[in-house]
Amino acid sequence: MSAARKSAPTKAAQFRVAEGEDPWTEEEVEEIRVELQAEIARMERAIGVAEAGLQDLFADGSDGAGRDPADVGSSNFERDQEMSLAQNAREMLEQAQLAFRMFESGDYGVCESCGRPIGKDRLQVFPGPRCA
Ligand SMILES: [Zn+2]
Repeated sequence: MSAARKSAPTKAAQFRVAEGEDPWTEEEVEEIRVELQAEIARMERAIGVAEAGLQDLFADGSDGAGRDPADVGSSNFERDQEMSLAQNAREMLEQAQLAFRMFESGDYGVCESCGRPIGKDRLQVFPGPRCA
């Protein structure tokens, strides 16, 4: 255990902080890893739930003939909602996956859009890949 720890480069030392912030500690880095992995799992579940909901809606909503127009309207509304939920979850999953790749490569903490340090305080609230 201790030998493996010694040979692995510490990520804490690589991650950027904003001006005036303390360097990352190993504990803080570990919290970010856990948070990013939890976020990825959460979004994968959310996408699964939204897609299952969509399949149900398509399954019983594909034939509008003979149905009350109000029913058709509300199932269209439900479908739009499920689709935007799925879309949001996909975007959030992509963000989390990108942040995790940057984490793994040691580039974490720098905005992937403008290249400036995002700041540790912000990242601990929202561990995304961009400053805004
Ligand atoms: Zn930026």
